[in-house]
Amino acid sequence: MPNVSPSILADYELVIGLEVHCQLLTQSKIFAPDAAAFGGEPNTDISPITLAHPGTLPRLNRRAVELAIRMGLALGSHIARYNVFDRKNYFYPDLPKGFQTTQDKTPICQGGQLEVQWRDQASKQSGQALVRLNRIHLEEDAGKSIHPAEASHTLLDLNRAGTALIEIVTEPDLRRAEEAGAFLAEIRRLVRYLGVCDGNLEQGSMRCDANVSVRRRGQTTLGRKVEVKNMNSVRNVQRAIEHEFERQVALVAAGGQVVSETRLFNADNGQTYAMRTKEELNDYRYFPEPDLAPVLITDEFLQAIEAAMPAMPKALQAQFTGQFGLPAYDAEVLTDEKSTADYFLAVADGWPTGATSRYKAASNWLMGPIKAYLNETSTDLATFPVPPARLREVVDLQEAGQLNFGQAAKQLLPALVAQPQRPAAELAQQLGLLLAATDEGALLPLIQSVLAKFPAEVAAYRKGKKNLQGLFMGEVMKAAQGKADPKKVSELVRQALETA
Ligand code: ADP
Ligand code: MG
Repeated sequence: MPNVSPSILADYELVIGLEVHCQLLTQSKIFAPDAAAFGGEPNTDISPITLAHPGTLPRLNRRAVELAIRMGLALGSHIARYNVFDRKNYFYPDLPKGFQTTQDKTPICQGGQLEVQWRDQASKQSGQALVRLNRIHLEEDAGKSIHPAEASHTLLDLNRAGTALIEIVTEPDLRRAEEAGAFLAEIRRLVRYLGVCDGNLEQGSMRCDANVSVRRRGQTTLGRKVEVKNMNSVRNVQRAIEHEFERQVALVAAGGQVVSETRLFNADNGQTYAMRTKEELNDYRYFPEPDLAPVLITDEFLQAIEAAMPAMPKALQAQFTGQFGLPAYDAEVLTDEKSTADYFLAVADGWPTGATSRYKAASNWLMGPIKAYLNETSTDLATFPVPPARLREVVDLQEAGQLNFGQAAKQLLPALVAQPQRPAAELAQQLGLLLAATDEGALLPLIQSVLAKFPAEVAAYRKGKKNLQGLFMGEVMKAAQGKADPKKVSELVRQALETA
C-alpha cells in the first residue's frame, strides 16, 4: 500500500459515482417464465428463451416494469413513457445469448435524487449530501461463473441468467467514502421498503460498483476514473473507495497517471487489483432489440403504481417524532425496517393522540426485549408470533401501573410467544406478575422499613442530595420483589422523604 502523507491527501478531492444493481423480487425472469429463485440446483431454471435459442421470443415481465417505476417514484425520477430495450453485445461464458438485453438510450427512470446523512463513528464527524441520479434502467442479469478453489476449471450456473435487474446510476456527486456508504445503505433500505429487492449485498442480490477518481482541489474538470467491483457489504464499499483514493493520489502526486480500468476489491487485504482496462473492452454495438416491441407506460398504469406506494421511511420518521412524540433515535430505529414500522403502527392503532408515554413504552419493547428475542432466535417481525394487539395490552397494563416492564420483559414475553392467543392480563396474572402492590397500604410499610435501614442517606437526602432517591427506589422495588409500579413507588418514596 502506497504511503501518502495526510497533507498530500488533503490537496486532492475524491469523486465517486455509484452503479447499484438490484435483483427485482419477481417470480419469474425479465423476459421468460423460468423461476427467478435464489439457491436452486445449478442450471435447473433455464428455458430456451433465456438462452435465446433460435425461434424463441422474449416477453417483458410486467411486474419488473412496475418495480422499476416504484423505485423511480421513490427517488423523484421522471418516468419515461416510451421505452425500448437494446442489445449490448459481448462474449462471456456466463452470457450464453451473446448479448445482454438492457436499456441504453431510454432508461425507464431519468434523474431524481437522494439526500443522505452520514456519520463516522471513529471521528464523530457527520454530514449530509444530495446525490443526483443519472438514471435507473431495466436489464437482465448474466449467469454465474464459479471458480472452485484448487481447480483448473470454471463452473457455470445459468440459473441467474435472465433475472430481472434495475441498475441505479448516480451522477459523480459523492465526495467521501462515508457518503457512498450512506447512499448504499439508504438505497438498500428503500428497495426493502418498496418490495423491489431483498437488498442482500452478501448474497449478491444487490451489487454496488464504485467509480472513483481524484483531482486537485479547485480543479473543475473530473479526473480519470477507475471502476471498482466485488464489494459485498457497505463497509467494503467504503474500504475499497478509501484504498482507491490513496492509491490514485499516490500515483498522481508522483507525476503518474491513473489508468481507466476495472479493478477488483480484495476484502482480505483491503486492496484493489486491475481486472481489465477500459481500452481493451469491446465496443458493445448497442442496437434496439428487434424481438421486443417498444413499451408504452400509460397514465392508468403509472397512477395505479403511485397509489400503491407505501409510506417512505423519512415520512414515517417525521410521523413518529411529530404525531407520537418519540425521540429522533427511536424514530430512526423503528423505521429502519418496514416490518418494524408496520408493527409499531399496528400497536399504536387505537391509542388516543397525545398518549406519548404509551408510544414510548411500545418503542422500548420493540427496541429492547423484542429485538433481543428476534436476534437470539434469528427471526424477524414478519414471523413474530405475538400480534401487535397483544403488545398494546401489555403497554396498557404497564401504563395502568399493573405491570413492571423489567419483569414483564423477562417472564411475560416468553409466555406471550408460547401462547400468543391468550390475553396478556391473563398470562400476567397466571405468572404472578400482575401488580397488586399499587395500593399505598401495601407499599408504605416497605418504604418505611427501607428508610429505617438508611438513616444517614435519609439525612443526606434531606440536606439536598436528591439523587439518593434512586437508592431508596431500588431498595423498595427489591423489597417488593419487583412487583410494584415504579411510578407509584417513586411518588410515595418522595412523599415519605419530604414529610417525615
Ligand atoms: P462509462 O461510460 O464508463 O460507463 P458513465 O459516464 O456511464 O461511464 O458513468 C458511469 C458511472 O461513473 C456513473 O455513476 C458516473 O457518475 C460515474 N463517473 C463518471 N465519470 C466519473 C469520474 N470522473 N469520477 C468518478 N465517477 C465518475
Ligand atoms: Mg456505464
